[in-house]
Amino acid sequence: MHDVIIIGAGPAGLSAALWCDELGLDTLVLEQNERTGGQLHSIYGAIENYPGVRAANGREFFDRFSANVSEADFDLWTNVEIDSVNLNARTIHLRSGEDLQSIMIIIATGVRRRQLGIPGEKEFANRGIIESANRDRADFAGRDVCVIGGGDAAVENALLLAEVCPTVTLVHRRRALKARPTFVQQLQGQHCITVFPESVVTRILGSNQVEAVEILRKDALKPFQMAVQGVVIRIGVEPATELFREQLQLDEEGYVSVNSQHETNVTNVFAIGDVSNPLAPTISGAAGAGATAAKLIASRLGGRK
Ligand SMILES: Cc1cc2nc3c(=O)[nH]c(=O)nc-3n(C[C@H](O)[C@H](O)[C@H](O)COP(=O)(O)OP(=O)(O)OC[C@H]3O[C@@H](n4cnc5c(N)ncnc54)[C@H](O)[C@@H]3O)c2cc1C
Repeated sequence: MHDVIIIGAGPAGLSAALWCDELGLDTLVLEQNERTGGQLHSIYGAIENYPGVRAANGREFFDRFSANVSEADFDLWTNVEIDSVNLNARTIHLRSGEDLQSIMIIIATGVRRRQLGIPGEKEFANRGIIESANRDRADFAGRDVCVIGGGDAAVENALLLAEVCPTVTLVHRRRALKARPTFVQQLQGQHCITVFPESVVTRILGSNQVEAVEILRKDALKPFQMAVQGVVIRIGVEPATELFREQLQLDEEGYVSVNSQHETNVTNVFAIGDVSNPLAPTISGAAGAGATAAKLIASRLGGRK
């Protein structure tokens, strides 16, 4: 029986674990991936908005974070596949057959990129589907590319690619872009960027590499093909809550509903970080939520240190 089991080892889960450890709680962190750090590994631009830290990218930020983690004394299991969780009983069954139990559970499973679910999306991963313009734009210099999505991430990727690509086609399904006004203004000065509103990409085509996308405009009867050699997909994120869906209160988009102390509607179950924070997903928010949940848990467990 552990005091606390934390599911997910991104900034939120690791921050909670550091605090739980400092407060003398018997803590186990379960991470599905081989490495911890969550979305930090997808940040290829500079991080300049976390107090006291300036990092060239998420990797550098993570290295500093993990220096603290390696000095702490909590248990951390990576490559863990959770089969099922019973939140009321606070038991966790692993695919390996092992059963775990704790007094408290902290859900820190974060978000993942939403997928289009169209033909070609999986097939051309790393063969023309661009992971990040920040990281990969030099490889796509001189090529025609398509960016799918209308939010900040999509427009930022389009702007970065426009620095090196002859044409950038931005395809989004709404009438107006959702991206912040400063990004949208910057688009207007970019002659190589064409925006297709109220349109969707229905297929990504090619033989070995991406060669074209098929675009369907709202009022058109048939899609048309456009030759491109690279595609960026940025259609938002979704919370990783499938393990808990039937057991606790979620909002309409699947994020875990919590109170100001990060308690869910199930007794002794907390949720922290992006999985419960659709409005302001940030590293500082995730770290702060981890600290709050850990302190509340320690006080409930009677200051066991
Ligand atoms: C491109 C990009 C740029 C960003 N830039 C900034 C920035 O400049 N400043 C800033 O503050 N924030 C930035 N962010 C946001 C920031 O990275 C997130 O807010 C933060 O990582 C959230 O931390 P988290 O721990 O809640 O979730 P995550 O980082 O998503 O971590 C969740 C962890 O849980 C694990 N997990 C999920 N499901 C399971 C399961 N079933 N079992 C076990 N483990 C599981 C995942 O593998 C992952 O390791 C950026 C994000 C991106 C993608």
